Amino acid sequence: MNQQIREAIRDKQRIVIKIGSSSLQHPETGDLDYIKMEVLVRELCNLRNQGKDVVLVTSGAIACGKKAVQIKDGDNPIAVKQACAAIGQARLMMTYQKIFAEYNQVTAQILMTRNTIVDNLNRFNAANTFTELLKLGVIPIVNENDTVATYEIEIGDNDTLSAIVAALIHADLLILLSDIDGLYTDNPRTNPNAQFIPVVQEIDEHILCMGKHETGSSVGTGGMDTKLTAAKIATASGADMIIANSEDVRIIHRIMDGREYGTLFTAHKDDDFYLTDFVEQMHND
Ligand code: GLU
Repeated sequence: MNQQIREAIRDKQRIVIKIGSSSLQHPETGDLDYIKMEVLVRELCNLRNQGKDVVLVTSGAIACGKKAVQIKDGDNPIAVKQACAAIGQARLMMTYQKIFAEYNQVTAQILMTRNTIVDNLNRFNAANTFTELLKLGVIPIVNENDTVATYEIEIGDNDTLSAIVAALIHADLLILLSDIDGLYTDNPRTNPNAQFIPVVQEIDEHILCMGKHETGSSVGTGGMDTKLTAAKIATASGADMIIANSEDVRIIHRIMDGREYGTLFTAHKDDDFYLTDFVEQMHND
């Protein structure tokens, strides 16, 4: 049964891949890991070569900006973080575009806020832009528009953002690359008896409780709870979702080969699921 579900991954056509800040940086220095970025780009270009539609959701803007102007981690004011995001987003894109260019792959930048989804006209325009870019064979590179996002209009973390993107463009697969192998019954870093869960068919209370513990990174924003929120959005909108370890990003083609890596959440399209309502509700909870 599991094997059949996994083999179906090979046929996925529209794929959103999210990578977090901690996966893109050297832990010792916080500088970008170019080798990892290069391998990631090669994996994505290879998916394009198989005729698949590919979207990359990448974090790292704030972290990259902080490095550029030597601002230390810690409790920086919002304006400083937003300035860092402005600096870092451009640097991040420059690095990606340089590497993608080696494979002759055109990319585009899309920066979103909560308003992109909540406002009907914005959402319509964003969906059309994605559709056109994918038709042109371009890989859209997405991040939150941290430079302008305030609490009222922010999505807040890129796990959720990537699931929102997957729902918006009717993707059939979302891969969240993280610093953990997938979902465990408890935090495997503190509980040696924590069990790994390879497949989740239904996101019930029992599963949601397993998301209460955090992942190990101090760089990104997403813990396991944001990944489970992402899983709810993605599966209800009709996409499978996989949480997988970004330590070796070649895991992407292994997953696409139908091999058993990470935790797979199977799609359950819910016709009563409205992305706009869900996003609108997010800050009211
Ligand atoms: N948008 C943020 C950035 O690029 C990261 C958000 C997250 O890590 O989830 O720095």
